[in-house]
Amino acid sequence: MSKVPLYFDVFSEGLFTGPESSVPIDYAKIYSDPESEKAIMSSVVYCIHHKEGCKWSDELRKLKGHLNTCKHDAIPCTSKCGAQIPRVLMEDHLKYTCPQRRTRCEFCNKEFTGHTLENHVGNCGYEPLYCENKCGVKIHRRHLSQHKASDCSKRLLPCRYCTKEFVADTLTAHHLKCGRVPIQCPNRCDVNVLAREELESHLKEECTISVHSCSFKEAGCRFKGPRFAMEKHLEENCQQHLQLMCSVVSKQQHQITSLKSALSRLSLNYSGTLIWKISEFSNKVAEAKTKEGMELVSPPFYTSQYGYKLQASLFPNGNGAGEDSHISVYIKILPGEYDGLLRWPFAHSVSFTLFDQSTCPEKACNIVESFIPDPTWKNFQRPSKEPDSLGFGFPKFVSHEMLKKRHFMKDDTVFIRVKIDPSKIVAV
Ligand SMILES: [Zn+2]
Ligand SMILES: [Zn+2]
Ligand SMILES: [Zn+2]
Ligand SMILES: [Zn+2]
Ligand SMILES: [Zn+2]
Ligand SMILES: [Zn+2]
Ligand SMILES: [Zn+2]
Repeated sequence: MSKVPLYFDVFSEGLFTGPESSVPIDYAKIYSDPESEKAIMSSVVYCIHHKEGCKWSDELRKLKGHLNTCKHDAIPCTSKCGAQIPRVLMEDHLKYTCPQRRTRCEFCNKEFTGHTLENHVGNCGYEPLYCENKCGVKIHRRHLSQHKASDCSKRLLPCRYCTKEFVADTLTAHHLKCGRVPIQCPNRCDVNVLAREELESHLKEECTISVHSCSFKEAGCRFKGPRFAMEKHLEENCQQHLQLMCSVVSKQQHQITSLKSALSRLSLNYSGTLIWKISEFSNKVAEAKTKEGMELVSPPFYTSQYGYKLQASLFPNGNGAGEDSHISVYIKILPGEYDGLLRWPFAHSVSFTLFDQSTCPEKACNIVESFIPDPTWKNFQRPSKEPDSLGFGFPKFVSHEMLKKRHFMKDDTVFIRVKIDPSKIVAV
């Protein structure tokens, strides 16, 4: 006979559901035949807790007896909490989960039922806890709030001088630099106590005893003294202070002059081409008509970095043959830094260009005059330290009539280019 697993609970209910009808049937009424019943009851079955792990297997008639001891069969909790617990789990249940169990709090050692312990856990005054401020202290719950209020090294405390809040264990360090900590004036003047942050201004402005340098120290006065003596010193030394200041001013004047000349050296033009912009030109022509020999001079420029130093000049009302009718232009050689290295006489061609400032560059018609220096002319010899010569150029460069034409003059401004042929300038 094969083993048939029987999983329906025939013994507790006496009823089961037949294969062809869902109406529960009393099995005793079906099997009234003692022979058949005997055969059924002799069939070998597994325990109904086979799936939970019970290995029992025997005749069906012995199942009920087995279930009385089967460790997987559930029985009411022996502490009467009302739960149905498999025998095998009863010990754990009684010990750990039964609400009726007797147990002790591991911290205060008081006795509780499982049920009341749940409320106690998390509230026990004897449970050791780390302080939430992370000060590292572990302390019983009942002492924690006292600790945080008055002992914890990480609690916030106000500085008693400046009232700002600090973590308790940094307060001492703060006191060493707190600006509001009261201190005494190191000069022991009549001000008794002042806040540390006020000391500097006290010493500078109020302290009657602190020593100050005379305010003319930078000018050279060496006097030092307390506030009251200073007033007297200033009163009595007006003359001396004034002299000191005068020498400072003249020293500075000297520096300014040398700075100016350094600056003008830096801004010098070394390109060999001068573009000379002359604005308010008609004013200058009018002025020149009343001032005989009025001459405009250009900024000095060099023919190259180590070349000749030149300067252009212009007579708005003409000079010599051009007087009263033309503008005259000249170039003169100034004493330069590199004259000792240069070939003399100066022999490079020079051109003067008056620009036509027409808005349309293709239609512009510039006026150009140029010359090659005559080596016999004294103007082209190496210049002396004090040149006074006129230079060389064109007395009748452009007539006043011509100047009014085209766009030579625009916005009352003229542009004159002076260009030096750059070849063979340096002799060495
Ligand atoms: Zn069993
Ligand atoms: Zn229980
Ligand atoms: Zn406790
Ligand atoms: Zn703490
Ligand atoms: Zn403070
Ligand atoms: Zn003082
Ligand atoms: Zn002084």
